[in-house]
Amino acid sequence: MTTTALDRSHDSARRSWVDSANDPASDFPIQNLPWGVFRDDEGGHRIGVAIGDRILDVQAAVLEHRLDGLSGVIDCALCSSTLNQFMSLGHESWSAVRHAIADLLDSESEPCESLLRPMEGTEMLLPADIGDYTDFYASRHHATNVGRMFRPDGDPLLPNYLHLPVGYHGRASSIVVSGTPIRRPHGQLKPNDGPPEFRPISLLDYELEFGAFIGQGNEMGTRVPMGDAMRRLFGVVILNDWSARDVQKWEYQPLGPFNAKNFASSISPWIVTLDALAPFRSHGPSRREDDPALLDYLNPVTEDVLDITCEVHLASESMRRSGQDPIRLTRGSLSDISWSFAQMLSHHTSTGCPMRAGDLIGSGTVSGTEKDSRGCLLELTWRGSEPVELPDGTQRKFLLDGDELTIIAYCESDGARRIGLGSCSGIVTPAS
Ligand code: CA
Repeated sequence: MTTTALDRSHDSARRSWVDSANDPASDFPIQNLPWGVFRDDEGGHRIGVAIGDRILDVQAAVLEHRLDGLSGVIDCALCSSTLNQFMSLGHESWSAVRHAIADLLDSESEPCESLLRPMEGTEMLLPADIGDYTDFYASRHHATNVGRMFRPDGDPLLPNYLHLPVGYHGRASSIVVSGTPIRRPHGQLKPNDGPPEFRPISLLDYELEFGAFIGQGNEMGTRVPMGDAMRRLFGVVILNDWSARDVQKWEYQPLGPFNAKNFASSISPWIVTLDALAPFRSHGPSRREDDPALLDYLNPVTEDVLDITCEVHLASESMRRSGQDPIRLTRGSLSDISWSFAQMLSHHTSTGCPMRAGDLIGSGTVSGTEKDSRGCLLELTWRGSEPVELPDGTQRKFLLDGDELTIIAYCESDGARRIGLGSCSGIVTPAS
């Protein structure tokens, strides 16, 4: 159990007047209160908070004075069409609003159904204008597996791996919200026995990841120290970094991923805040006895590991048509990664690189030590040599058109109410 400060908002006995939020299986009990942006009946974009199977219309709550006691600056941010302004206000403001919303939805308060709308049938949008996106490579199990496949003769981990969180600058414009179809891209590929070709890619893969949204950023020229890093993070989403392995193999040297990673990355619509995750934090990430000592600027000083369980499910088009359940490909935990979001943020800003509210950092593929905890098909099928059998009688080495990939994630801990991150899904559509 965490030693991070818990308060009344985490009380596992607390209940809401929204009945569905009290279902023990709900991802969104009153202890969670994740943030998103939905399309309203007039087509506008509004901030919402998930509660059970409903969405609290936050702007309506502000305008009807149901969230009193907050500053005018906070009220204004909550009536915006994205979460960027609210994210920029910092931890004290986020915490004040979390308590105000929990009080509004508490079973002891007067119900106000008119502030709610059903989640089902409501279109979710990207929760923030994502200015910049950086993807890391923080799972040593993933890095070791990939290293073994691509460099079978050497040390699978490159010399820098245990000294710094390796990452690359990604493409914010290609991030889409869960449910967006993923069109198979074209790319330049190099067959082993012929010249390069340009055609629809063959080796389409997913990557099981988490993303952390930056709340309060830093001025250019300043750094975010480890002791401050977790407080700068607004919250966490599920992230699927769709990847073109055949493009990646040909293009990645010497500058790293490019077109293999810039056609789509999906995120779940609800941002679960670091406050909501407080009961699910622990010390680490753990290092092995013979690992090199960390330089001081990367040494953990707070509980930076987030214990979030994740599962990947796959359903082919024919499975969905015949009503078959998806199969589970993977079950893992974000706590398995070797670099925390705090270390990623401290390292990212160690040069004075400015981060802004709404920037997103990805964890990199989350893999564990066991085969059923490998976070992408490249690892799970060992580059296609151990295909996955599907219940419709087909096999998968990589994703085919019509496949629907869904990642779910949740947190469980003794004494705490279970909370979930919802899901992140996408269906692969044919190349155009
Ligand atoms: Ca990735």
